[in-house]
Amino acid sequence: MEENCVMNTYGRYDVTFEKGLGCKIYDSVGQEYMDFVSGVAVNCLGHSHPAIINAITTQSSKLMQSSNYYWNTPHKLLAKKLIDNCDHDKVFFCNSGTEAIEAALKIARKYGSLKNTKDKNVLIYMDESFHGRTMGSLSVTGQEKYQKDFRPLIGGTQKVKFNDVEELKKNFNDKVCAVIVEPIQGEGGINIATIEFLKAARDLCDKYDALLIFDEVQCGMGRLGSLFAYKKFSVIPDVICIAKALGGGFPIGATITNVKASAAFVPGDHGSTFGGNPLACAVGEAVLTELLDGGVIEKIDDKSAYMKERLLKIKEKYGVIDEIKGIGLLIGIKINADTKEFCKSCFDKKLLVIAAGNNVVRLLPPLNVTKGEIDEALDILERVISEI
Ligand SMILES: *Cc1c(COP(=O)(O)O)cnc(C)c1O
Repeated sequence: MEENCVMNTYGRYDVTFEKGLGCKIYDSVGQEYMDFVSGVAVNCLGHSHPAIINAITTQSSKLMQSSNYYWNTPHKLLAKKLIDNCDHDKVFFCNSGTEAIEAALKIARKYGSLKNTKDKNVLIYMDESFHGRTMGSLSVTGQEKYQKDFRPLIGGTQKVKFNDVEELKKNFNDKVCAVIVEPIQGEGGINIATIEFLKAARDLCDKYDALLIFDEVQCGMGRLGSLFAYKKFSVIPDVICIAKALGGGFPIGATITNVKASAAFVPGDHGSTFGGNPLACAVGEAVLTELLDGGVIEKIDDKSAYMKERLLKIKEKYGVIDEIKGIGLLIGIKINADTKEFCKSCFDKKLLVIAAGNNVVRLLPPLNVTKGEIDEALDILERVISEI
C-alpha cells in the first residue's frame, strides 16, 4: 500500500471507485454497486450521462474561464433558465453549497445594514439543520457535533427549534435580518418542515422586514418532484440556495433572490473567481434541460410512490423500520438498528446508502432511476433487513 497523503476528514469505506454508468458504480477490481447515494444527492442524472459529457466536451474546447470582469454566454443562459422556473429575479453563482449559503448570509447582513434599525443583523437558524462547513454556514448549522471544536463562530445568530412556531415568534424582533431553513432537513435526518411553520416564518419575515432563506442544496433541483423545493410548500422564500445536483456531478452552486434581496448587493460586495465560469454553467444548463425538458422531474412523484409502497411492505414484514420519511426521491427510513452497521451491510451486498441524523438511512437515487433499478436496490435492502 502506498503512503496515504489524504487528510483525515472522512470515515471512508475501504473501496476505490473508478467508473460509473447510470445508477451503477464500479470499483477498482471491477465489482458493481447500485449507487443510491449519488454523490450525496449530486448525480441527479446518474453517472456518465451523455448530456453532461457533451456539455463538458463542447464547452471545455471553447472556453472554461474568463473571469467575472467580463460576460460569458453560459453564465447568462443558466441564470435565465433558473429564473424562468421560479418566482425570483437574480442569481449569483459560486462553486458549492456552503458558498451559496455564505452569499445568502452576506446578502442578509447587507440587507439589514441598509435599514434604519440599529444592529439589524440577527440570523435565525434551526436546530438539527445543516448548511455547510465554512465558518459562516457552520455558525448557522444547528448541530453541536459540527460546531463544538470551532468556536468562536460568527456572532448575531439565534437557534430555534425546527417546526416550533411559538419559539420562532418568541425570538423574532426587528433586529432579525434573516431566517434560514431547509424545507427538508437532509443531513439532520429527513425532517420535513411543516407548511404552518414555513408560513409563520414567511409572515414574521414580512412583519419585521427580514429575508426568508431556503437552503435547497439537498432538496432542490428536482429531488422533491418540482425543480425548486419551495413549490411543494406553497411558501415563497426571498432567497434560495442550490448546489449539489445543479451540476449533476460538476461543482457549481447558486444563490437565487428576489429583487428586494438582490438590491442589497452592489459591485464589490461579493465575488468568486470561479463562480459563473462558462464550463460549470454550460453543464448546469445541460442538467436543467434534461431535468425539465427531458421529462425527468415529471416522473418523480410516481417513482416516489412506487418506492414508498415497497418500503412500507418491507416495514410491515419486519420489525426493523420505524418510519418511512421524505418527499419525492429524498427518502429516509428510520430504523431501530445501528445505522452505521446497516449501511455497511448494504455496502457488503453492493448497495450504497448513507445515514442521516438519528437512526435514519437515506436513499438518494439518481432522479432518472428506473423502477427496475428501484426494485434491485430494495431487494438488497430487504435482504439486509431480513438478516437483522
Ligand atoms: C450538502 C449541503 C450543504 C453544503 O454543500 P457543500 O457543497 O458540501 O458545501 C449545505 N446545505 C445542505 C442542505 C446540504 O445538504
